[in-house]
Amino acid sequence: MSKVALITGSSRGIGKQIAIKFAKEGYNIVLNYVNRSEEVDKTIEEIKSLGVEVLEAQGDVSNFEESETIVELAIEKFGQIDVLVNNAGITRDTLIMRMKPEDFSKVINVNLVGTFNITKNVVPYMMKKRQGRIINISSVVGISGNAGQCNYAASKAGIIGFTKSLAKELASRNILVNAVAPGFIETSMTDVLQESVKESIKKQIPLNRIGMPEDVANVVYFLASEESSYVTGQVLQVDGGMLM
Ligand code: NAP
Repeated sequence: MSKVALITGSSRGIGKQIAIKFAKEGYNIVLNYVNRSEEVDKTIEEIKSLGVEVLEAQGDVSNFEESETIVELAIEKFGQIDVLVNNAGITRDTLIMRMKPEDFSKVINVNLVGTFNITKNVVPYMMKKRQGRIINISSVVGISGNAGQCNYAASKAGIIGFTKSLAKELASRNILVNAVAPGFIETSMTDVLQESVKESIKKQIPLNRIGMPEDVANVVYFLASEESSYVTGQVLQVDGGMLM
């Protein structure tokens, strides 16, 4: 029976490439997003063309009931979830002097509470199977901090603490939990930045290029594969050496 990967926020950007990587490796995919953009149909077609099944599970991960439904739909269709990738994330960047309370809470709710909501619903199924992989998408700014991103950096630092705690809780059930911390990756999240800002970030990257979603997807897949079966509770940076 084919394995199943649930990837939150997989309609576009990094999540889409993670879904494509797992599909190439023969996984059936649970595709999640919140707004039905034009990208969704294209992404589904691309994944299906790789010969695997796709379940479209629209829902807001920051809402516990919707998260419960996403997981229930996945179990109804495929009977199992082998890999969970908590990737859905947003930014609301601004300096604290201008940051509204809702800018702070919205980012924490989607990025951190959303990670809890989906994980909480998936873990019982993984525990029953005594097997599973959970990969949480953090960010290098969760380690380093970044001016203008106190909401986002707090959510991503929170994901690291969440990852390490769960890794300790679930190791005895053979459920491995790790985080991936991307640096600067080319997606719509970073498209909004001015060219001059992008150039100055590039100068800080020893590998001298901006990362691609595929760079992250390959590392996420490694953390789901047999090759990483002795790795848990770790934060793997995918940042071209930007933060050492
Ligand atoms: P993106 O292109 O903006 O895509 C975000 C994805 O998350 C979309 O599929 C979006 O769906 C989904 N999403 C947003 N809010 C959601 C919610 N409440 N419930 C379910 N899905 C939701 O972002 P990205 O750059 O690929 O980022 C993916 C992850 O990598 C995020 O966690 C981000 O923080 C992290 N990251 C990115 C970078 C970077 O440089 N790009 C660096 C470090 C970490 P809709 O289309 O419905 O909005």
